[in-house]
Formats: sequence, C-alpha cells, structure tokens
Amino acid sequence: MKETLDKFLVQIEMMNLNISSGKPALKKPLCLLLLISKFENKTINENKIRFIELEKELGELILSFGARPNKSGPKPNQPFQYMNSSTFWDIHLPNGVEMTHKRDLSLKILRDSETYVTLDQEIFEMLNNSREFRAIATEFILKKWWPETIQEEILSSLSLPVYFPISTRPPRNKEFAEKVLSNFRYRCAICGFNATFNKSHFGLDGAHIKWFSQKGPDIVHNGLSLCKIHHWAFDKGAITIEPKNLTIEVSPLFVGRDHQSIEIIESFNGKEIFPFKEEMPEARYLDWHYEYIFMH
Ligand SMILES: [Zn+2]
Repeated sequence: MKETLDKFLVQIEMMNLNISSGKPALKKPLCLLLLISKFENKTINENKIRFIELEKELGELILSFGARPNKSGPKPNQPFQYMNSSTFWDIHLPNGVEMTHKRDLSLKILRDSETYVTLDQEIFEMLNNSREFRAIATEFILKKWWPETIQEEILSSLSLPVYFPISTRPPRNKEFAEKVLSNFRYRCAICGFNATFNKSHFGLDGAHIKWFSQKGPDIVHNGLSLCKIHHWAFDKGAITIEPKNLTIEVSPLFVGRDHQSIEIIESFNGKEIFPFKEEMPEARYLDWHYEYIFMH
C-alpha cells in the first residue's frame, strides 16, 4: 500500500497548477481535500464520484480558502473537470460528449447522472481503507499549498484526519523569522504588539508576504513581523499593505461587530505600518498579495 501512496503523492506533486502567472491555483487541492474528508466520514461507498456530491461544499471551500475569487465566482466545476489531466482521476461523460481541456463543460453535463469520476482503483481502496494514509495525503496537500495559519483552519473546517509525527515536520526556517522580526524591532508591523514572556519574545511570527507554498522566498524583503491575529488576517486577505507608502488597507468585506473588533482590524485602515530598520518589504511581493490574496 505504501507504493500506492507514493504513486498518489507523486501525481499530486505533478498536478498541473497555474502558478506560472503567480496566481495561486488552489481549487484542485481543495477538491482532493474534500474528497479525503468524504472518505473519512464514510460518505463514499463506491468508486463513482459525482459532481453534485461535491459541488456545493467545494464552492464554499473555494470561497473560503481558494484565495481571492474571480468575478465569475468559485467555479467548483473546474477542478472536477480539469483534474482529468492527472492519471488517478478518470472522468466518464454521457454518451456522445467529448472530454476537452479547452473549455468548461456545462453544468448540465457535469450534473448529469451519467457523469462521474472513477479514481485509480488502488488509490480508491487506499483512501477508503486507511486512515493513516488519508492523514498523510492530507498533510502533504496542506503543506504544499497553504501557509500554516490557514492549514489549521482547513483541517478543522473539514474534519480531516491528522497525522503529524514530529519526525516528518520540516524544520521551520528560524533564521528567516529571526531576521524578519529583528527588521521590525520585534514589533507587529500593523499594531506594534511587542511583548516578552519568560524572557523570549512572545506571539510574533515572521510572516511571508508571498506565501512560501506559492514560491515566496525566505528573504527579509518578503517578510513582515506580525502578531498572531494580524498574521492570520493578512494570510486570509482581510488586510494588505500598499507597496509605495506602506499603508495598511482593510478589506471592505471585514465587518467588526463590536468596538474591540473594529479597534483590532478596521482602525488601522489607511495608517502607515510600523517602521522597519533596514530592509523594506519589496513591492513585487506586496503586489502579489494585493492581487491574489487581499479581498478587495
Ligand atoms: Zn498585530
């Protein structure tokens, strides 16, 4: 079964994702995670996966975790159709309908009872029978596409299996975090939070502006020192930083429901970030964040 897992992970690794333009393509991995959660919850009984069983939830997942959506909406039909370029995903269409990679198939065709996907039989059985392998595949997908702040949130919202043995955790890049924090004098660049606990600095992360999982480099110019809440708000696209004047912009979609919540996020809108010591966050990374993550 280990070989089947390797085969699956290699194919996931090779999934044709559209990151050449810089745009994170998160729909296929979200589709796979949803599928794994359905195996976990025992709601898949045979190797025939239908679009209508995934459509609604997948659309919601893409809106929550798929980075900034296109104007045309979440389009859960796309990963269902285009994952066909991976050999483990075999789409069957109604008689007379040709598969194409050139244009989206209509929703009517995808929702048709004659349309379904069969997974590679060995991979189907592995996902169906082994919680351990479901957990390993989950971890692999989460780490490959999302920052840690969001991995946790996806895990809990899909009730996915967790399997994080200490030995497989890659060492965090401590040097990057240390340099970034030091560049901001150990303060949150947004709110200035600056505290120690038991003689160590407390509650601050060296955050990547362009996600590490999306090929954002481990360099100070791609880093911000952020407290936990602002790190999360930044990765979720609730706040961004304008590259020229380094002013904070809060998403119009953010709604603080009480005075405190408004204070913590909305009140920073239009303010300059706390000054850095030497290295200015680079515009190209802030531009990427504005374009693909910030919900504007
Ligand atoms: Zn903060």
